[in-house]
This record gives sequence, structure tokens and C-alpha cells, in this order.
Amino acid sequence: QYQADAAFPLSDHADFPDLVEFVRRVAPRQVYTLHGFAADFAGHLRTLGFPARALSQTEQLELMLGASPTPVPTGRGTANLRNAPAVLAGGSEDLAPTFRAFASTCATIGTERAKSEKVKQLAAFLAGVDPGVLEQVTSWLTDAGPSGAAGQSLAVGWAILRGAICEVAGVSEAVFRNCYLKHSDTGETAAELLRDHAPVADQSLSLEEVASLFEALATARGPTQKQPLLARALTRCGPVEARFLVKILTGNLRIGLKQGLVEDALALAFHTDAGAVRAAHQVVGHLGDVALLARSGRLAEAGLIPFRPVNVMLASPEPDAAALWKRVAEWSPGDAPASAWIEDKYDGIRCQLHKVGNRVALYSRDLKDITTTFTEVAEAAASMTADAVLDGELVAMEGGRVLPFADLQRRLGRRQRDLFLESDIPVRFIAFDLLWYDGRSRFGIPLGQRRAELAALKLPAMISLATGGMIRDVAEIDAAFDAARARGNEGLMIKDPASAYLPGRRGLAWFKLKRALATLDCVVVAAEYGHGRRKAVLSDYTFAVRDERSGGLRTIGKAYSGLTDVEIARLTEHFLARVVRKRGRVLEVTPDLVLEIAFDAIQESDRHDSGLALRFPRIARIRDDKTAANIDTLATARRLAGLD
Ligand code: AMP
Repeated sequence: QYQADAAFPLSDHADFPDLVEFVRRVAPRQVYTLHGFAADFAGHLRTLGFPARALSQTEQLELMLGASPTPVPTGRGTANLRNAPAVLAGGSEDLAPTFRAFASTCATIGTERAKSEKVKQLAAFLAGVDPGVLEQVTSWLTDAGPSGAAGQSLAVGWAILRGAICEVAGVSEAVFRNCYLKHSDTGETAAELLRDHAPVADQSLSLEEVASLFEALATARGPTQKQPLLARALTRCGPVEARFLVKILTGNLRIGLKQGLVEDALALAFHTDAGAVRAAHQVVGHLGDVALLARSGRLAEAGLIPFRPVNVMLASPEPDAAALWKRVAEWSPGDAPASAWIEDKYDGIRCQLHKVGNRVALYSRDLKDITTTFTEVAEAAASMTADAVLDGELVAMEGGRVLPFADLQRRLGRRQRDLFLESDIPVRFIAFDLLWYDGRSRFGIPLGQRRAELAALKLPAMISLATGGMIRDVAEIDAAFDAARARGNEGLMIKDPASAYLPGRRGLAWFKLKRALATLDCVVVAAEYGHGRRKAVLSDYTFAVRDERSGGLRTIGKAYSGLTDVEIARLTEHFLARVVRKRGRVLEVTPDLVLEIAFDAIQESDRHDSGLALRFPRIARIRDDKTAANIDTLATARRLAGLD
């Protein structure tokens, strides 16, 4: 009937990624699709570079008009071949992928080595996702993972996961533990236990149902409400779905899918440029929102969306006033006299304040919602007349004087309002930038103007403007530094008044001058048992900076002083759960903990693979607010060493 030389019968169990994979392996000269969402599938194959046509009228119309077809499945259903379009094979109903399709796409991506293949597979999947859940599904692919509608975390910890998995597989905690020891991964553990112990599930969870599950988990209170929700969902999971459902909850899919690849996949899926996707991601901050913009061809409209925190703009360190002034001179075009915006550097925690109408939310620099920790600031912000998003620093302050960081730290980690702490440790929000105002993103506007708009806002007493002003001479830096220190602040920030706000970037528009000597943010790559009193704890840490050329880590030193016993106990527990390899007393660990290291000097040395060593390194602070992605680079360390 169709003049075909050969027809390939496909397994009834092929799902959407399998179908695409099938076509890929056959590498056909021409594909005809019929039945079901034949036109969508053909359109989809064309986006992947295969000549494909549906033998149906709708598509002939589409082709005749020369439109670029975006496969947009309209309904929902399972992704089994029974319900999917086929390559010269039978099918009916629709194509919207299920959670099983999500999980099997992840599994395929995990086994695929070539990045381009990972991207193709993911693009094929994402292109078929219903726009109603595209934002959520995309967020599952990122480290940030799913969150509740108000951005709250799901708070599904280890105990809830273990409880739900044991319940559904009908196994004891001891069986769970043994299985976990084998995999060191909760998702793999769930998959094995469900495969070996649980009755076969109908595997029918739709993407919408999983999105609703995460929403329900975010609002449910405590393990007694959360565990049954999770267990109910797991009873409807086969091993592969269970594996990825749990991996989404633990925050790491471990399928070698870096953020850049997800961005590439979005570009491929929605026929747009990867650069445009990345640029939009920088300013929107949330890949799910970017997916929706890409899908509807509106990437150019990307900007800050209130209550979607963005990665903050960062500053590069400089060792002294002279080095800073050299930077300032680089900003000034031609012969224009050098000038810079200079501000106190407050020693607190970075905070983004979003306020629209009565709703206020505070976010930490790692984009966590910290509103309930600083309720009084949020309440004060609600009285602001303007709707705005401010960038700033939360500091402990009393009678106009900044208190040491340690005081503020006592407020952290407290989720609920605490009357005593609030009056004990009064907190202020110090605003230094304006990211959204008057219904519009302000990223592209020069700092000078953003700052002027910020100064014109009527701010409540609990929110103040950062102390700052313009300087035109290097001599003003030292005076400003001393004045900032006299006000109890850590040092200075120097900013290019003409610069745009670049979310998530550590560029050359903001510099920081902290102390006589800069510190470096390093990630710990190995921990070692101490001596004497510290024999039983991991108290010596080897740390690394990032080699910006290769992206790899380069060790730069080892430190064991600067932390309290309580902190060491916490880090011991942290590192013991992340051991990658043991070498005698030294444990190589997953690099995820950032330390701010102070030192007296940096010099060349072959002791470490960075080619540098620190003189008298000491731990200034544990940086729970930073991840390995934000550590300092080898280039920065070499510059501080005076080598480049
Ligand atoms: P550091 O955390 O040492 O890398 O220094 C950069 C941090 O200084 C920023 O992320 C902010 O949290 C903080 N900071 C304090 N005052 C300012 C300011 N006036 N402008 C920008 N960042 C500031």
C-alpha cells in the first residue's frame, strides 16, 4: 500500500525515546509515519535531522506552507507504541511522554558517552513534553531540582526516602542498608529493591502526576505526611522510574548531564540558538522558565521574574589599592579620567529580596528561600510602597553598628521564627542593587542608574542603603577602606558605574578588597584524620582551586587550623559520607565543601598540582553558601601570587 520495501515491526513496549533511538540506529533514507501523532513525530524526526514525512493530511498542509513544524502533542497518554505514532507501524491516540519516558530517557543518556548524543536524546524527549509541565520537567534535570509553587524546598530527607522505599519493597532497614552500601546511591538502591522485592507496577505515572507529587511533598508537613505520599507514587513505579524519581529528590541524576547540555538540548528541541538559551538562563535563573520561553520563541523577552531568584553577580578579589586602580583605569574609555563607584563590603550573607504587593521572599545566594529565618525583615519589606527586587546583604546590626558575622550565623539554620533570637540579634538588610522595578528587569541598565533608582525608593527602617560614593583618585581607596573598617565592615567593593548586572558572573566589573591580603575560596578534595586529641576526627583538609582552562581542580594547599571542635565534628560526618577512595589515613572525598582560606602569601611550588602553595594557610570560614562551582580559579591565585 505504501510502496515500502521493508517495514520494521517495533516492540509494543517501545516508548518515545526508544522510537527515536530506533530511527537513529536504522539511519533511514526516508521515514514515513502514520497513525497516532504521525505529523508530530515526523516533525520531531526532522528536528533531529531525519527526512521524515507523515502520511497524513495535516502535515501535508504544514509542509506545503513551509512552516517550521514544532511537534506539540496536544493530549496526554502513555508513551507505549500502542499509543504512539509509528514508523510504518500501528499506533493511535497521542504522544505526550509519561514519567516512564522521562526515566528511560535519563537511563539512555546515562549510558551514552557522546555529549552530542545525550543532547539529541534529551531534545527528542523535551520537544514532546506538554507545555503545562515543561517548566517542572526541565527543573528535574537541574541540580536545583523541583520546588513548591512558592519556591519552597521539598524537604524530603534520607529517612523519608528510606522509609518509603522499605515500605513499598516490603524490606527491612537492614536489607536497605546492605543494598545501599553496594550502590552508595539512594536511586540505585530504590531500583534494585523494587525490582527484586516489589510487585510489578503498572508504571503509569504521568509527568503531570509526578509534578503534582512534588508540589504535594513541598506543602506536606513532616515525615508523617510526606512518606505516604512518596510511597504511593513508588507503588506505581517500575525500577527505572523509581531510580529517577528518587534521584530527582536527592538532587543529582548522575547521568553526566551538565547544565550546558540541558541548555543545548532546549535549543535543539525548540529550534533556537544555544547562545540565546544560555543568555536567557543567566538572567532568568531558572531553566524551567527558559524552556517555556524557548518553546514559545520568546527568549529575547528573558528577564528577572519576581520570586524566581537569580544567581547573584560576583566580585573578583584584588590584593591592594594599586591593583584595584589598575582595574578602574581599564574601565575608562579613551582618555576619560578614571572613576569608580565604591561601597562598603558588609560581612553578612548575600540576600535577594523580592517584593510584589503583599508578598515578600528572601533568598540566599544559593537561591534557597530564607524568608522564615528573617521574618522581621520580610515584614518590614512588605510595607515598602514600591514593588521591587533588591540585591543586598543581611547583617547583624545594633545601634547603627555592624555585629560580627558569628552573631548572624546564630540566626542561620533556624527555620521558624524565634522571638528571643530576633531581639537578641537584630538583623538589617543592606541594599546595594536594584534588579527589578516598575514591572521590568533592570539588568541591562548601568549600575549608576540602578543605584539612583534604588536611592529614590522609600525604604523602611530595617532596610538601608549600602554606604557608597564615587571616587576619582587612587588615594581615596585607602581612606575609604579605613572608614569602612571603622564602621565595622569587612572592606570595600569597587564597581564599574557603567556596568550591567550580570547574574551569576564573576566578571571584571566588580572587585573586592577585603583585608591586607585576599582570601581564596577553595573546595576540599581530601580529608585526613588528625593527631592526638583529633585522632578520631577528620581535621586536616587538602583543598583545590579551579583550573579555568580545563575546568578541573588543582590542589593548592592543606590546612588544619581555624575551625572549632563542633565544626570539625560536622565536617567529619560530612566527609565520611562522601569518601571516594581511601589512601591510608587520607580519604579522597567528593569535592562539594567550600572553605575560605586565609594565608600570608602564595608562591610557586611543586608540592601541589596547581604549581602553587600557600604560606600559613588557615581556614577563615566554612562557606556553606558556596558550591564547588563558585570557588576561585587558578588564574586568580596566580595573579595574587604576582605571577600573571
Ligand atoms: P566573598 O563572599 O568574600 O566572595 O565576597 C563577595 C560577597 O560580598 C558578595 O557575594 C556579597 O555577599 C558581599 N557583599 C558585601 N557588601 C557588598 C556590596 N556592597 N556589594 C556587593 N557585594 C557585597
